[in-house]
Amino acid sequence: MSSVTLRNVVKRFHKFTAVHETNLEIPEGAFVTLLGPSGCGKTTNLRMIAGLLDPTEGEILIGGRRVNDVPIHKRNLGIVFQNYALFPHKTVAENVAFGLRYRDVPKADVAARVQAALDLVQLPDVGERYPKALSGGQQQRIALARAIVIEPDVLLLDEPLSALDANLREDMRVELKRIQDKIGVTTVFVTHDQSEALAMSDRIVVMSAGRIEQTGSPEEVYNNPASEFVAQFLGASNMLEARCTGTDAGGATLEAEPFGQVAVPAEKAQRLGGPGAAQLVLRAEKLLVMPAAEMPEGMITAPARIETVDYQGQTVRYFLRLGERQLQAINMIDERPFEQGAEVRVGFRPKDASALPMETA
Ligand code: ATP
Repeated sequence: MSSVTLRNVVKRFHKFTAVHETNLEIPEGAFVTLLGPSGCGKTTNLRMIAGLLDPTEGEILIGGRRVNDVPIHKRNLGIVFQNYALFPHKTVAENVAFGLRYRDVPKADVAARVQAALDLVQLPDVGERYPKALSGGQQQRIALARAIVIEPDVLLLDEPLSALDANLREDMRVELKRIQDKIGVTTVFVTHDQSEALAMSDRIVVMSAGRIEQTGSPEEVYNNPASEFVAQFLGASNMLEARCTGTDAGGATLEAEPFGQVAVPAEKAQRLGGPGAAQLVLRAEKLLVMPAAEMPEGMITAPARIETVDYQGQTVRYFLRLGERQLQAINMIDERPFEQGAEVRVGFRPKDASALPMETA
């Protein structure tokens, strides 16, 4: 396994810049996800790492070695795409063995390695079948087996789960992570699905419009977004106009109507330089909706009216009216959800708030 480095990489298609100058370090053995909306440049980055596209500027290093001029089949990569494209007229075992065809693997070892790859994806007995006799999820596992049978230095996965239905996708998430943990291969995973990224990654690289917005652990990017884009893209966030009245080692003090003064902890206000215009970021699931009398101690609260109730099974999403403002809150349903028009109190703990300077908006 190897690290992957993008150094001052730019990709232009004619006059259009798909990837602006990008620097990225993917440590050996890590599971790193490129996450962002359609068209933000995730696949372009992955294809440059793969050697399917040449960068317009900059360098790509695999295991510390510059690979700009190394062709794809010499980069020792395992690649799985969304449309896993197994050969329909080859058996599963022949499909998996296909990855080894350009390598000097003795014939006797090919069968053993194919079997080991099939064991790893927990389909030990399907080698003699044809792909059409397998379910979509099983076919995707075979595509994965074909990618890992070569013992790649880096595994590149481009939306590999998006063709699967919702339940299967969740099972495959766990499965993919299990396999990655077991073989420890450096993995670059591309998705636009934030829950997939949060569930699987050691690090998430959030991208927008050809640029990296933030790199960090799932907890970091989720709890301490570096920009309004990240706050909105990962889950549902409320952004409130605020004023920072002071910062010190303990954190920042913000004034945000209708809540009044909020003391945001230092690690969630790192980007505030000092007093000035700011934004208070409140995650929808951190806003608690309750009758005033039941609000726990230590919450910062304001009165609100429930405008819309959106049932989501175990949770409910409320759209709340607070004077001029509308906020959304996602709460677990313990008994009965509130009804439209109910007068309630909405509150949050200051430790759950984060703050951004206004100019990043
Ligand atoms: P998706 O999730 O839809 O695949 P993405 O984030 O992976 O999106 P890319 O496929 O990397 O996005 O594309 C980034 C931008 O570059 C898009 O605006 C796309 O239209 C453009 N682009 C990609 N490939 C080419 C190409 N060969 N020629 C011209 N423009 C391209």
